[in-house]
Amino acid sequence: MKIIEKFMIRNDCYLAGRKITPKGIMVHSTATPGVMAGEWFARWNKSYKAGETDRQVCVHAFLDDKDIYQYLPWDHRGWHAGGKANDTHIGFEICEPAGHTYRGPEMIGYDAAMREDYFRKVFRRAAELCAYLCRLYGLSERDIITHCEGYRLGIASNHADVMHWFPKHGESMDTFRALVKQLLTE
Ligand SMILES: [Zn+2]
Repeated sequence: MKIIEKFMIRNDCYLAGRKITPKGIMVHSTATPGVMAGEWFARWNKSYKAGETDRQVCVHAFLDDKDIYQYLPWDHRGWHAGGKANDTHIGFEICEPAGHTYRGPEMIGYDAAMREDYFRKVFRRAAELCAYLCRLYGLSERDIITHCEGYRLGIASNHADVMHWFPKHGESMDTFRALVKQLLTE
């Protein structure tokens, strides 16, 4: 698994320089159709304090069907959860393919059959990244949650990802965790 390391050194999150001991992993998806992993660097490698962006956000990595970009050191405290999970969880974003829009948290015009190939690639790749991080930090598949599960646990903001998307392809966080478990036993 190739990971392209390119830290967002202009982002205030990077500049804050706080470290964590990773206790888990939070899986997100971007809700920004068609913007791929490498494109997020230019979007987010900006300083809120310097007035370059109106968002205070940063995650450890983005992945798409071709690449994984690591934008923060894994033990850096990220700004991805909107809650206490930032103190404990590595966060990464799965990029969504182009072609749909959003009404609130709902995908509109998403053609699951047409996107099945893309989805299979990112689902597998996200599980492989989780397995890699589990090995690195002595975690298991039980330590992996998604944003909406974090909200229910009271450690993240109220977002729907990734369970607004995975079920369109017959998957869930439980099937995702099962795949990570399988990868960890291989
Ligand atoms: Zn999220």
